[in-house]
Amino acid sequence: MTTIRTVEELRAALTSARRQGLTIGLVPTMGALHEGHLSLIRRAREQCDRVVVSLFVNPAQFNERSDLERYPRQEADDARLAAQAGADLLFAPSAEEVYPPGFVTSVEVLGISERLEGAARGAAHFRGVCTVVTKLLCMCQPDIAYFGHKDAQQVAVICRLVRDLNLPVRIETCPTVREPDGLAMSSRNALLGPDARERALALPVALRAAAELTGAGERSVEVLLRSASDALARFDVEPEYLAIVDPDTFAPRDLLDRLDRPALLVLAARLGDVRLIDNALLEPAAVETVSTEARAAAVHTAIAAETQTPDHPGAPGFGIAVTGGSPFTHQPPQGEPSPCSA
Ligand code: AMP
Repeated sequence: MTTIRTVEELRAALTSARRQGLTIGLVPTMGALHEGHLSLIRRAREQCDRVVVSLFVNPAQFNERSDLERYPRQEADDARLAAQAGADLLFAPSAEEVYPPGFVTSVEVLGISERLEGAARGAAHFRGVCTVVTKLLCMCQPDIAYFGHKDAQQVAVICRLVRDLNLPVRIETCPTVREPDGLAMSSRNALLGPDARERALALPVALRAAAELTGAGERSVEVLLRSASDALARFDVEPEYLAIVDPDTFAPRDLLDRLDRPALLVLAARLGDVRLIDNALLEPAAVETVSTEARAAAVHTAIAAETQTPDHPGAPGFGIAVTGGSPFTHQPPQGEPSPCSA
């Protein structure tokens, strides 16, 4: 694997592959690679002839200076891991290469990007994401670009961007990879102290409580949200947001709505000074004919999972079988709607 720093070198390195009609996959990352990133690289390796991993901690998408400054940076390790996962090229440009003097253009996707993460982090966040992703797609011109479902709103925004600008690329979404106890892998997990790491388990437990209830036949948006917020409260975690939204538009479902189609439960919370996000797909269609007994049993199990506390976090994987596909498996649950499907 070769590490390259400039757009010129990147284009030169890909010219021959492009001329031969080989497929090029791009995996954009901010580094500090973990199994989540590596799953994207491996997927790209399976599907493409050439795999480019970009490594760029994009200052434009950070709304907090301290978050940018302490974001983990470990290029040598990243290069080794990316190569092992099958990358051919590591594109690690400087900030000046991406934003040269005089740079004034930005890309903004309205609507989807103004909600939830956009509201919590400010308009500059998704503007920064959209601008850098557009630039990376133009620099590399991949056939397929790979993104993680962990950042579900980001995927929805990027899919909208690609459609709206007719960018000639396919967006491939990969499922969230989790630690054995259910915590979604994130480069920021390394910044959690021991207490915050234990309490961070609140996120997957809350998501799972709602997913279990959905699997058991519960359709009330209000009840599902309450099950998740009760679970968070048991870990003394206050959500920055907690919502059930449409997977494509991220429009929030009304409290009085009933789930008649798949929806996403999304949440963000601060553990100390580390901000984490996560989401789970709620799939009502999978269990339309659940029996009363099965429902009671599943509700019981969900409540048992919810009542786990940092002192009693439960066994890896929580020991819960989710009807209709778990949002915690490494494979996409059956029928997971792609934000790119609209
Ligand atoms: P980042 O380096 O945080 O910008 O992430 C780069 C890509 O990896 C994004 O598309 C993320 O959604 C994806 N990603 C991050 N964490 C995970 C995870 N736990 N599982 C799957 N994909 C992930």
